[in-house]
Amino acid sequence: MSVLANRALVLNRSWVAISTTPVRSALSLVYQEIAHVILPDTYETFDFNSWADLKLAEGEHSIRTVRWEIKIPEVILLRFYDRVPKREVPFSRRNIYKRDLYVCQYCGSRPGSRELSIDHIVPRSQGGKSTWVNCVLACTNCNAYKANRSLVSASMRLIKQPRRPRWPARFALPMGSVRTSWSKFINDRYWNVELAE
Ligand SMILES: [Zn+2]
Repeated sequence: MSVLANRALVLNRSWVAISTTPVRSALSLVYQEIAHVILPDTYETFDFNSWADLKLAEGEHSIRTVRWEIKIPEVILLRFYDRVPKREVPFSRRNIYKRDLYVCQYCGSRPGSRELSIDHIVPRSQGGKSTWVNCVLACTNCNAYKANRSLVSASMRLIKQPRRPRWPARFALPMGSVRTSWSKFINDRYWNVELAE
């Protein structure tokens, strides 16, 4: 069975998709009465016992425990949690480009992505870390000029102080790993944001 088939979509109490979780931990949440299972076709909700009582279709994948052979839950609904957790924007090359809008943060030029690279403001050789506040886009010229120097010794200035971006992070579902039964639960806004990238 694929890894995909081993995850369940997690909805908060307001039926907003907030994450996915391995099927076993989904069942554990249901067992602890923290969540119910949703049958995507009918939106019926099940507690652990009523879910465990469901008949398995011929050849259907299931989870075996010592006492039960249980239908795999594809969607669970948290009974009490009603927030949408904020995700931090992942620190990635792509997101640095996105934050800095393809603009060299030293001279303000927009030479195109091939002429831009990521510069460590405090150079790594001087202990500078790879973080949102120490990495900016720099054009080839600025990068070569700054080289392994600090801002002060290179007499350079940033056009703005870099920060962790605050745009809404993508819903953490990689494309292609979505069960068809999930699609009706996944918030349109999140979904469109992901497709637009
Ligand atoms: Zn530049």
